[in-house]
Amino acid sequence: MTRPNTMSALVKAQPAVGLWQEQRPVPEIGPDDVLIRVKKTGICGTDIHIWNWDEWAQKTVPVPLVTGHEFAGEIVDMGRNVEGLSIGQRCSGEGHLIGKTSRQSRAGRFHLDPETRGIGVNEQGAFAEYLRLPAFNVVPLPEEISDDIGAILDPLGNAVHTALSFDLLGEDVLITGAGPIGIMAAAVARHAGARHVVITDVNPDRLALAGQVADVTPVNVAKEDLKDIIARLKMTQGFDVGLEMSGNQQALDQMVEALVMGGRIALLGIPPGKSPVDWSRIVFKAITIKGVYGREIFETWYKMIAMLQNGLDVSRVITHRFAKDEYIKAFETMRSGKSGKIVLDWT
Ligand code: ZN
Repeated sequence: MTRPNTMSALVKAQPAVGLWQEQRPVPEIGPDDVLIRVKKTGICGTDIHIWNWDEWAQKTVPVPLVTGHEFAGEIVDMGRNVEGLSIGQRCSGEGHLIGKTSRQSRAGRFHLDPETRGIGVNEQGAFAEYLRLPAFNVVPLPEEISDDIGAILDPLGNAVHTALSFDLLGEDVLITGAGPIGIMAAAVARHAGARHVVITDVNPDRLALAGQVADVTPVNVAKEDLKDIIARLKMTQGFDVGLEMSGNQQALDQMVEALVMGGRIALLGIPPGKSPVDWSRIVFKAITIKGVYGREIFETWYKMIAMLQNGLDVSRVITHRFAKDEYIKAFETMRSGKSGKIVLDWT
């Protein structure tokens, strides 16, 4: 292919607050890689941590680094070993780069590989006109999935992985945290056949968005008690399944209280530091807890695309779109806490 030597990218160029739009060399690809012309990218909470240059970012992110890990684009070059893909193929992809030698990887449980490295976090990322990715990580996009949705499949995958941790058919589901992933998890739980899906937060904007995206009951726990909701919805004991998306200790306490005996909890939210937990409640209620990391590679991707083809609609979770040159405005909007997913356009 004829390709430019340099590209525009959003770079953590200095160990300080912010990101900088810079010209960077277009990545060279190895024999097992593809080069992707990035079209759309999603901004993630992780990118905000990197922008803010908090403690986690300082000890995790090398400088300089092209940031970003949520993307959709088109394959424009392929290494000589790559099979089964083609130039011009529209795609998204798994941003977790895995090793092949651990016990977990060799058993096919790729998402549990302890050597995992993330694009835009440990390796050069997707906030750029071009992205190098191992062909193994590419997920082709069917025609009916737009580049905008393609750009948010990574967080939708977090939502799907969390929501499908337990059988939801006919179950009453409580989701704590109405950020974009919580809202998408609510839509997935509804699609998967849950009876009642209740989503809690203390931010009225997020709760309003939840009600627009999915057929769920938004509850502001600063104003309403979950006990009253359980009574109003005529649940006999409480919720069967909890999906914790907030990392908030109070939310987890409320969830444990609102769950039935033998209830199940999937945890995706990350508490800041160590967080006290009333373990005796969890033991006496015989609750099962599962930590969720990333997406199952590639089962989550398969299920998510199949559901999108079968009526799952999360398009309204995208509340803002910006051109790449407006990235400062995009990040400000994201940091305001008043947005859903924000998509950056690289075309
Ligand atoms: Zn993300």
